[in-house]
Amino acid sequence: MESTLTARDRVGVQDFVLLENYTSEAAFIENLRRRFGENLIYTYIGSVLVSVNPNKDLEIYSKAHMERYRGVSFYEISPHIYAVSDNTYRAMRTERRDQCILISGESGAGKTEASKKILQYYATTCPVTDHLSTLRDRLLQSNPVLEAFGNAKTLRNDNSSRFGKYMDVQFDFRGAPIGGHILNYLLEKSRVVHQNHGERNFHIFYQLLEGGEQDLLSKLGLERNAQKYQYLVKGCCPRVSSINDKNDWRTVRKALTVIGFHEDEVEDLLNIIASVLHLGNTQFGEGKNGENQITTETQLKYLSKLLGVDGAALREALTHKKITAKGEEMISPLSFEQAVAARDALAKAVYGRAFTWLVVKINQSLAFKDDVYNSSKGSSSVIGLLDIYGFEVFQHNSFEQFCINYCNEKLHQLFIELTLKSEQEEYEAEGITWEPVKYFDNKIICDLVEGKHKGLISILDEECLRPGEPSDISFLEKLEDTLGGHAHFVTHKLSNGKTRKAVSREEFKLIHYAGEVNYSVNGELANQSGNSVISDMSPLCNHTPWRFDEALVRHQVKYLGLMENLRVRRAGFAYRRHYETFLQRYKSLCPGTWPNWQGRLADGVATLVQHLGYKPEEYKLGKTKIFIRFPKTLFSTEDSLEAR
Ligand code: ADP
Ligand code: MG
Repeated sequence: MESTLTARDRVGVQDFVLLENYTSEAAFIENLRRRFGENLIYTYIGSVLVSVNPNKDLEIYSKAHMERYRGVSFYEISPHIYAVSDNTYRAMRTERRDQCILISGESGAGKTEASKKILQYYATTCPVTDHLSTLRDRLLQSNPVLEAFGNAKTLRNDNSSRFGKYMDVQFDFRGAPIGGHILNYLLEKSRVVHQNHGERNFHIFYQLLEGGEQDLLSKLGLERNAQKYQYLVKGCCPRVSSINDKNDWRTVRKALTVIGFHEDEVEDLLNIIASVLHLGNTQFGEGKNGENQITTETQLKYLSKLLGVDGAALREALTHKKITAKGEEMISPLSFEQAVAARDALAKAVYGRAFTWLVVKINQSLAFKDDVYNSSKGSSSVIGLLDIYGFEVFQHNSFEQFCINYCNEKLHQLFIELTLKSEQEEYEAEGITWEPVKYFDNKIICDLVEGKHKGLISILDEECLRPGEPSDISFLEKLEDTLGGHAHFVTHKLSNGKTRKAVSREEFKLIHYAGEVNYSVNGELANQSGNSVISDMSPLCNHTPWRFDEALVRHQVKYLGLMENLRVRRAGFAYRRHYETFLQRYKSLCPGTWPNWQGRLADGVATLVQHLGYKPEEYKLGKTKIFIRFPKTLFSTEDSLEAR
């Protein structure tokens, strides 16, 4: 007992519901810090797994580790992403219901790595037959391909996903993976034409230039030098020490083949990548008659070849615009600035389409084919993996942050519904009186955003469609008229006619469940929002291995709503186990139950917990399970210290 306490002092608690001072954020962070100091990066809040990115390789992802987590209960061995993977898988199998794992956190928190670890777990531990192994390989190989085209080096993360991803893995009745599907959204296309200092364009450009064979580059009209390309020099960062573009190129090429891309499809794809680089180097200048014209003929030649479009048509498209007025088509020349903008817009559009096409192709290759495996028809289930940004709060928050935060607000609502509902269902099934938990229902904020006619989004829609001159300020005024007085909506105006300092005249503040965020309305109506996500990023997470960055941790504890989450969890029972399993595992701790309990299981369990010193109010006996509010002594010393 004493040694257990000492160990716990050192490694903290493996489930936050066991934290004595559970309402204190400082205690929460201290627990994370202690565990981190002992190489324990995972901690539960009930069935939620909190993970702190170690930024160094830990020896906790081996096949042996995967085996240890198979079929084991959450609380019996130390927290791990494999435990979540395994529990989800078993829930899918036993309940025959689709499951979903949501991964959330700031950029660089380790979301994408976590989703890869989950996939690897399934790829390694699930039953696989011969023809299914092809699918498994494709599933795993889709990652390097998507990352090459959708990830980039940013200030926060050398391999930052610049798109959101929802992935379904489909399993047959025997629990073997038989298909997959990826849904991508919000690719950060602005990166194709612009990168901030210290950041790069999407990996694929550098991979192609570094790793592409000489013939290939010649055919594409490219030089092996990233410095030559306008779209690659903005961030002044062609090379990154943690990235080997040449090796990655090989990986991607191989992956494309495994996924089943034909050679001509790969060629088409690379033609597009090359044409984006040529577009970036396409320049404009003044012609003889003062008109704006293309001054880089070589680029035009390659563009026409690579994109398979007529050169003259392309020239026209890049320097002129077509307007249809009263049924008549009019062609007018573009100014220099307009031509540059048109060129960049084309580059972004072409790249965006290539990315979408890539995902479509990957999905075709992952699709479950009926004819291959007919017997599983109708009895498959899926596990979904969502890899999405958590709450974003910057100095300047625009439409992007609004969308991301609204999405998180919805996810939180889903989470509350699911946890509280499933808790309630279990207590009812076990015949235990349910004590209602007080919690903040964030539906009120979701309604504020999505409500028909009176929600923020409808008001924005209306303002955009309104004839006349809608402006950012008229939008804000409309918001004030409609939403002023709402408990979660704040502007600079105070009810006494004075102004509030914390919110500027071009902003409104939303009080989200996780905290307050000021959103700027500047430029929301006038143009498509410029991407401030990136410009506001400071190099917080300078990738130092094994550093516990308290500011970064605290920020996320707050904006992921972890304290609220813990509070809701604490209201229930942290520990529950079937009588039989419980007795089997702990009977040796009590002379009355050792070596074998002969009577009713529930009585044996009661004898045991009483012997362990639990008071009647600290546990409940259900129909088949024991529920313990805070299991103080049952947890053995953390077994993952070996991870060091
Ligand atoms: P996110 O998707 O949240 O932006 P990533 O998953 O790309 O973040 O992680 C950023 C980097 O942090 C990875 O490239 C990797 O170097 C490191 N990392 C993340 N998770 C782990 C982990 N569990 N162990 C070791 N390093 C990790
Ligand atoms: Mg990511």
